[in-house]
Amino acid sequence: MLNKIETYMHLKDLGEFELIRRFAPRFSSNIPQGVEGIGNDCAVIPFRENHSLLVTTDLLVENTHFIRYQISAADLGFKSLSVNLSDIAAMGGKPRYAFLSVALPVDTPMEWIDDFMDSFAKLSEETGVLLLGGDTTRSTQIAINVLIIGEIETAFIKRRSQAIPGDIICCTGPLGDSGAGLKILLDGLPQEGISKELIEAHFRPRPQLEEGVWLARQPGVHAMMDISDGVASDIQRIMEESYCGAHIEVDLLPISENLRKTSAQFGWQTEDLALSAGEDYCLLLTVDPKNYDALKTAYFNQFHQPLHTLGKILPGSDLIYTLNKETFLPASGGFDHFKSH
Ligand code: ADP
Ligand code: MG
Repeated sequence: MLNKIETYMHLKDLGEFELIRRFAPRFSSNIPQGVEGIGNDCAVIPFRENHSLLVTTDLLVENTHFIRYQISAADLGFKSLSVNLSDIAAMGGKPRYAFLSVALPVDTPMEWIDDFMDSFAKLSEETGVLLLGGDTTRSTQIAINVLIIGEIETAFIKRRSQAIPGDIICCTGPLGDSGAGLKILLDGLPQEGISKELIEAHFRPRPQLEEGVWLARQPGVHAMMDISDGVASDIQRIMEESYCGAHIEVDLLPISENLRKTSAQFGWQTEDLALSAGEDYCLLLTVDPKNYDALKTAYFNQFHQPLHTLGKILPGSDLIYTLNKETFLPASGGFDHFKSH
């Protein structure tokens, strides 16, 4: 039995993460040794000596994750696979197999379906993923569910639970571009020039698969996950699983020139977009300070992109933000499916 809860409470009072925390223990008692369930970007299932399968699934629902007339079928096909690939990258694995379930209205044009499938197939081929099955059903709203099975040498698996106080918090990409793209769409702003690039970041996040595999094998990389709900929320997943606190230096947030210019033009709070808007799908990791300098250099040599520093893992359980050494209060704590509305 789940614990009794006050009857006047609704999902929006609990929030997405509290909901998962509430039911997860009910399903954790019979999990065999070596298998890892709820709590990371993927579940882990050992499958042959020293190797494990990584399994992840994500659901994209019309009017929650996208608006049908704003996203092309090709972009939706790309994104529905890409966000799942990102969860495999988050633990350092290589994607292998996919299952695709679609719920579609009966009047969906065949051209839309072909474009969706072509785009899904193209990204599958590029990333070495084989589609093995799925399900197809009618619905009044479009819903897309993808499940991916990946593979990894067990010793290299990266989890949210591996951060240690003193670790440097890093991320692999600029933050906030995707959130800005979404804002442009929702606010009905002109979609040209820089705005187009920001929308592209929202519709076609590149799964950081090579980066994930490489980082998982580097000495000193401790915890890792992908940024789907915004650093302000995702760092809390690392804190909960690793029993630690964190200090985020807002001055260090990697903000692209495109985002700076667009924020200045429309008077947006750049820092809040970068911290809380989410869907960046780059990697968030914590690194042993001993290995940090060497890792930063090696990462740049490998990918010709900087590894960005965001702050430090602290003992305790507090999450602290500073801007120019002064306390900073973010406007929102990141995306939550039930609380953010
Ligand atoms: P991500 O953003 O990486 O996809 P989530 O924050 O959605 O991860 O989920 C966190 C954890 O909770 C994951 O381990 C995920 O598998 C698990 N989870 C989320 N929703 C459910 C559900 N409905 N049933 C079982 N596990 C779930
Ligand atoms: Mg994830």
